[in-house]
Amino acid sequence: MMRDEEELEKFRNNVREWIEKNVPEEIKNKGDSASVTALREWQRKVYEAGYLGVSWPKEYGGWGEDPLKEIIVREEFAKAGLPYANLGLGVSVVGPTILLNGTEEQKKKYIKKILTAENIWCQGFSEPHAGSDLAGIKTKIEDKGDHFLVNGQKIWSSYAHIADYCLLLGRTGDPSERHKGMTMVIVDMKSEGIKVSPIRQITGRSEFNTVYFNNVKVPKENLVGKIGEGWKVAMSTLNYERFNIGTILFAVERILRDVSKKYSNEQLFNLAEDVVALRSFYRRLLERIKKGYVVGPEAAVIKLVASESIQKAYEIAVSNMGVDALIMERQAGFNPEFTYGLLASRSITIAGGTSEILRNLLGEVILGMPKG
Ligand SMILES: Cc1cc2nc3c(=O)[nH]c(=O)nc-3n(C[C@H](O)[C@H](O)[C@H](O)COP(=O)(O)OP(=O)(O)OC[C@H]3O[C@@H](n4cnc5c(N)ncnc54)[C@H](O)[C@@H]3O)c2cc1C
Repeated sequence: MMRDEEELEKFRNNVREWIEKNVPEEIKNKGDSASVTALREWQRKVYEAGYLGVSWPKEYGGWGEDPLKEIIVREEFAKAGLPYANLGLGVSVVGPTILLNGTEEQKKKYIKKILTAENIWCQGFSEPHAGSDLAGIKTKIEDKGDHFLVNGQKIWSSYAHIADYCLLLGRTGDPSERHKGMTMVIVDMKSEGIKVSPIRQITGRSEFNTVYFNNVKVPKENLVGKIGEGWKVAMSTLNYERFNIGTILFAVERILRDVSKKYSNEQLFNLAEDVVALRSFYRRLLERIKKGYVVGPEAAVIKLVASESIQKAYEIAVSNMGVDALIMERQAGFNPEFTYGLLASRSITIAGGTSEILRNLLGEVILGMPKG
């Protein structure tokens, strides 16, 4: 046990030293807002150093290491305020979904290119009238014998404007079948019949999009899981997405540390207590994952607490900044991170399942309370 802890501590020190020596100026100064080229190069460098795909299987390009090491890396990147594989949803959502549900060919074809950022991915689940009620999606996937044909509209698709592929949930059955008639496929975003239209966010950036699919041909080998079992695949995707969003816990810790250097108040103290409790919960879950457990509805607890905590952390930070909070451009003496974070974090309690939906889920699935 002691040896394990010592090894992890040594690993942590190596990550820190590596970051100090290797982070490029553009990434250090611009973080998430760096250019796509710079973020792509950065991700590749992180991967090649062994700090991405840490616990993913070696045969598909991962490093086959302890999942706790993966979390140590995420923690150290968050502490340094650096982006970690956030160019698209490949590493956070699609990779784990393909590893769990994909065919051998899909794992060989896609996983390594996800890690190296050679391919950028988006996730096509939500539709204009089907977000929280995901079972209400209407996008059609028709079986045409030698291929599928996709018709429909997706919305809020993050990174679709730069994506190479989309993990798309559609309907092979009748809409009245709800959860039963769904199917998951991989769509090449360069296919004919796809139109991507960006949506502007409160931050001024346009990172998500509406995507129209008009008679888009999809090869049969792009089916993920079985026809009619897309809901099952989608639920595993959502658990990974929520678990992954939960890693913003480490960003909350950094914000709290920065803010507490200048201010100290009761709100800050209460939030720090929540963060410590969440960290223990997270650590226990990781120990189970290490023994082969596949992350389930606990991911909703992590996502719920982490997303609400980061909003509170930015609110506390900004409320203490006075008029400086109004400066949104990075300039001498001012870092707009907190104001930008306050705006950007509004979305975190919506994306990947709203807080209301997660509370319903926890009530029903974990506490066994009656539906509705
Ligand atoms: C930044 C961001 C990125 C996103 N990226 C993606 C992406 O890449 N791919 C993708 O597919 N989707 C993406 N989404 C969409 C996201 O999954 C949906 O926005 C979310 O599931 C909510 O759906 P909705 O927007 O349709 O809201 P609605 O479902 O219409 O909900 C509106 C309000 O009603 C509440 N509500 C709804 N039903 C219930 C209920 N049964 N009980 C209590 N309250 C309820 C909700 O909590 C919410 O407050 C993204 C969203 C955001 C904000």
